[in-house]
Amino acid sequence: MNVILWTIVISLVGIAVGSFLNVVIFRSEKKLPLTGRSKCLTCQEPVTKLDLIPIISFFALKGRCRRCTAVIEWQYPIIEIVTGVLFGLLFVRAFAGVGFPYFVDNSQWLLLFVRDVVMVCFLLIIFVYDFKYSYILDRFTIPAMILALLFNIALGADATSLLFSGLLLGSFFAFQFLISNGRWIGGGDIRMGLLMGFFLGITNGLVALFVAYIIGAAAGIILITFKKRKADSHVPFGTFLALGTLVAMFWGTQILDWYLGLLG
Ligand SMILES: [Zn+2]
Repeated sequence: MNVILWTIVISLVGIAVGSFLNVVIFRSEKKLPLTGRSKCLTCQEPVTKLDLIPIISFFALKGRCRRCTAVIEWQYPIIEIVTGVLFGLLFVRAFAGVGFPYFVDNSQWLLLFVRDVVMVCFLLIIFVYDFKYSYILDRFTIPAMILALLFNIALGADATSLLFSGLLLGSFFAFQFLISNGRWIGGGDIRMGLLMGFFLGITNGLVALFVAYIIGAAAGIILITFKKRKADSHVPFGTFLALGTLVAMFWGTQILDWYLGLLG
């Protein structure tokens, strides 16, 4: 099978995985078990297999329940599409050997790809969950931290330097947590800092933090300008941190080079 076919197959797998991520996000908030059939939230009618096809069913049903016509959230097809696209992009990147972390050898591209798809799943869940429900759950950040460390060590990263990176980024948030008495920052952000350091190391971890603050500030200004949000309302910072981490995972090195170039 050639690369293009593989990319299509992997993107389709990504779409199916995205469908599962939606289930994880939704059922975690409702404290429901991850197994069991999907039901309509409004009429409780079990959803048939035919109506569970990712993306296609949503559009075939015009975004409504077949029985009670309750609206199905756009989150479902969007996450499915985004997961599919990211899986495809990560495969192409790993296969082409572009933008690898410095400790990864080209022969390890498949393991790097597995690491990245696993981390993308956790980051997407954290992104959506904090955006919708304003919480960064330990049940997502802690397994992600452990897996990030294990994958990176298996790929040849220095464990001590990863631990140090995580602790440094984590303490950046812990410090703000302490001086604001938990008003600016939640405990989930501290764990997010640890995760970013364990996954990206210190250099790309700082790039991720930088990107998260820029996107967060831009989003805040836009929302306040359009009066969608008050200046003092809650900021889903985990959403921006997850986004910054994704951006740094793909383009950390390029962003750093560009920034250092600006400084001369
Ligand atoms: Zn219904």
